Amino acid sequence: MSKIQKDVPLKNYSNYKIGGNASYFLDVRTKEDLIEGLREWRQRGENKEIFILGGGTNILISDDGFDGLIIHCSIKGIELNGEELTVGAGESIWDIDKFLVEKSLSGMEWSGGLPGTIGGAVRGNAGAFSGETKDIVSRVQSIDLETLEEKERDNKDCEFSYRNSIFKKNGDKELILSVTLSLRKGERDEIEERTLRNVQYRQERHPLEYPNIGSTFKNIPWDNVPEDLKVHWKVYLKDDPFPVVPVAKIIALAGLKGTTVGEAMVSDKHTNFIVNLGGAKASDVKGVIEEVKDKVKDKFGVNLEEEVMYLN
Ligand SMILES: Cc1cc2nc3c(=O)[nH]c(=O)nc-3n(C[C@H](O)[C@H](O)[C@H](O)COP(=O)(O)OP(=O)(O)OC[C@H]3O[C@@H](n4cnc5c(N)ncnc54)[C@H](O)[C@@H]3O)c2cc1C
Repeated sequence: MSKIQKDVPLKNYSNYKIGGNASYFLDVRTKEDLIEGLREWRQRGENKEIFILGGGTNILISDDGFDGLIIHCSIKGIELNGEELTVGAGESIWDIDKFLVEKSLSGMEWSGGLPGTIGGAVRGNAGAFSGETKDIVSRVQSIDLETLEEKERDNKDCEFSYRNSIFKKNGDKELILSVTLSLRKGERDEIEERTLRNVQYRQERHPLEYPNIGSTFKNIPWDNVPEDLKVHWKVYLKDDPFPVVPVAKIIALAGLKGTTVGEAMVSDKHTNFIVNLGGAKASDVKGVIEEVKDKVKDKFGVNLEEEVMYLN
């Protein structure tokens, strides 16, 4: 039986609930699924791109979908060995967090409320509340999609840096199969309290009632702030982990709260989120992104850069 499905609606795999169809789609629950699926893909002889999808929490998928093969990583499994945890790359961060609370293991509380999978978090070195994925990763097991060669890297070999890793730098040629995390014993109640505090912080400040893909733009590096604005924007300065001005503040200052194109809108609650009010198209979101970039550039002379990724 064919492992590869055709014409699969990607909006069902996007946190935004936006996106057209994938021409080809392979759901992968095990390494063997992946290997068999890739063999089948080769036999088809399609000379098309491959893209790995995790939780779809950071990607704006085109209305035209993706004319290639989407590999959806659903590899699950959590295995505990002392204070080390090996998890399938498709495990959600939230399920891992809950497991760690149950087992009184500390080190990952910063990720409370971070959406997506551990595979996506490793690839982009996701971080929040002064923590980063790199702080807890001890080894990453992956497979090269071209050669099917399996690799295991230690933390250093993952070449983590700010929202970056070897997997991203290599051009996403490898699928992360599993990740080994290093934690330490702690007090269950304290771990739970710290994790839930971060969940609550997000619930209070982020427009989670609407489909979204998190922060749209990167915070503005202090070095990119025009000299004449530094005196006014100094009050907003924060470490992230280098000096930045939170872009949400600047979008609000530009009067862009509530900017709407079609069914996509700059959130009132957090101006760096563009929410899907219901039936937003990717083109609506792109319209809002362009309007925000143009107005911020006109008003302050600052170029905003997207944090979200595009899948076209
Ligand atoms: C409400 C909200 C809040 C957010 N807050 C934060 C935050 O505080 N900090 C932060 O860093 N991010 C944040 N994000 C962004 C997002 O949650 C993270 O980037 C997350 O780690 C992405 O994981 P994912 O599984 O959804 O990846 P996806 O969005 O599916 O994919 C992202 C990238 O990872 C790759 N990828 C996914 N799985 C694998 C795999 N198994 N092997 C290889 N490559 C893979 C994909 O190819 C793609 O290039 C937020 C998003 C939302 C919606």
